[in-house]
Amino acid sequence: MTPSLPLVLLVEDEPGIRRFLRVTLAHNGFRVAEAATAVEGLDRAAADRPDLVVLDLGLPDRDGLDVIREIREWSRVPIVVLSARDEERAKVAALDLGADDYLTKPFGAAELLARLRVALRHAERVGSPEPAAFEAGELRVDLARRLVTRGGAEVHLTPIEYNLLATLVKHAGRVLTHRQLLNAVWGPDYGYEAHYLRVYMAQLRRKLEADPGNPRHLRTETGVGYRLVAD
Ligand code: CA
Repeated sequence: MTPSLPLVLLVEDEPGIRRFLRVTLAHNGFRVAEAATAVEGLDRAAADRPDLVVLDLGLPDRDGLDVIREIREWSRVPIVVLSARDEERAKVAALDLGADDYLTKPFGAAELLARLRVALRHAERVGSPEPAAFEAGELRVDLARRLVTRGGAEVHLTPIEYNLLATLVKHAGRVLTHRQLLNAVWGPDYGYEAHYLRVYMAQLRRKLEADPGNPRHLRTETGVGYRLVAD
């Protein structure tokens, strides 16, 4: 039996963007449901049980952040938020509330599809007992064996460097906020020490990147956090 196409719920009040999303997704193997307000979006999320939600943060009736908070009370469905370029704080708040990723307007079809696929794959992997691995170019990270190699040679990492890298590998392709990384590596009492991350990310880049000043894999998301990408 062929599995049914994934259902994406679009919650966006601008008709032009909604049309672009609808057409792009329908042509790329997704089913689409739509809502133009936060209230309608929450109703449809509960009624349609989508596989993924694309959520505009600037909705006419309620704050998009409220929508994330309410959905997260009962569902782990991946949420990708759409935000304007100057909404850095809102993006960080959305991710800290449990959104999976964000796209900054204007964005293209290729970027949209890549982000949605990462979010769907990640949702499938959650709960799977298999530890993640990451491979890109010369770099290989094997979490089961706690082994990091570059061009076949083992790279020695300190425990904090390793834990930071392992956290990024478990969420490869997704952005993680400063707070999410600090909580995962240093513990729940940390959240504002972004300078710790800068120090350890610089060390990881020196050990893992061919050109640490222009990293291919350990990317900075300005004002938000970091993202591990394959290329
Ligand atoms: Ca809007």
